Amino acid sequence: MSRTVLAEIDLTALKYNLNRVRELAPECPVAVVVKADGYGHGLGRVAQALSTADACAVASIDEALLVRETGFTRPVILLEGFFDSSELKVIASQRFTAVIHHEWQLRALEQAELTAPIKVWLKVDSGMHRLGFPPEKSAEVWQRLSTCANVVEPIIPMTHLANADDRDDQTTVQQLTRFDAVTTGVSAECSIANSAAILGWPQARRGWLRPGIMLYGVSPFVTGSGETCQLQPVMTLRSALIAVNHHKRGDPVGYGGSWNCPEDMPVGVVAIGYGDGYPRHARPGTPVLLNGKMVPLIGRVSMDMISVDLRSQPQAGIGDPVILWGRGLPVEFIAEHAATIAYELLCGVTRSRVRHTEIEERNHGEIL
Ligand SMILES: *Cc1c(COP(=O)(O)O)cnc(C)c1O
Repeated sequence: MSRTVLAEIDLTALKYNLNRVRELAPECPVAVVVKADGYGHGLGRVAQALSTADACAVASIDEALLVRETGFTRPVILLEGFFDSSELKVIASQRFTAVIHHEWQLRALEQAELTAPIKVWLKVDSGMHRLGFPPEKSAEVWQRLSTCANVVEPIIPMTHLANADDRDDQTTVQQLTRFDAVTTGVSAECSIANSAAILGWPQARRGWLRPGIMLYGVSPFVTGSGETCQLQPVMTLRSALIAVNHHKRGDPVGYGGSWNCPEDMPVGVVAIGYGDGYPRHARPGTPVLLNGKMVPLIGRVSMDMISVDLRSQPQAGIGDPVILWGRGLPVEFIAEHAATIAYELLCGVTRSRVRHTEIEERNHGEIL
């Protein structure tokens, strides 16, 4: 048996999750966010599977071109616009949509000589203080964009919410108020909502939706998992048991010997580590599914391996199947045990070592 670490990508679940967005806001056009290699799921396959989306949203020209290569002919939105004015020619020829978030971009756009005008979204900083024009400047920017020969109407105002993942945090209400103050009456269209807003803030569910993480079946909220949002996990990270050993009470396990066997016990070794994208900071006790049942991680995560406590499965044998996250074990739980967020874990799966496989046409009644 060769070392096979698999990221199984469930395209049926992906499409199901897009339908969930449609159910929540049937009137709204949807720009599916496929940046960062489709949140680690493979940008090409994700864009292809979600070809019924009204648009794709990405972070760079390279990602936008990959979307076009799949045959996607609808708008492709560059969420940070262009990084250099030399990209404007490609944007015009490929009919990409550029977010304009800064004065330098506006000037570059005004000065460019383009063969065709481009579509733009105007980013308003309603309180996140990352990208965007301050609300008090947005009227002037709007004016300049609407008189710029390189811009095609309509200009769509957008903003991004900083705290929507916490449904009790009133920052979201304040951001919406600031955004509405500068856009109401100016534009019929707009774009506000990420996954957390789509699921948790009905008043933000308007205009172009920008779901990312929820498409991949993961909850955007600070607690809970995708299942509680009626989403289905798309990636299942799989490996196998490669050793079963018996250690004595007091024996240390792994680097640093930071974990000691509390009694004579069987210990399993799984072929997965931080070299594959499994988080090194996953604490002892992090759940691992072995033969469909939970066993706890013990000791430190190494580059290629982790150890697990086999006291609840002393019969486990070499080659037995292991799920690190996905079906039956939400990636949100692993993120919590590793003091990070599911986004980082999904994006961090190592493409050079972890083989992606696709599954489709599964009977969903089976697993949920
Ligand atoms: C990444 C991103 C999104 C998607 O966010 P999720 O939390 O994954 O839904 C939406 N809008 C912008 C501007 C983004 O950068």
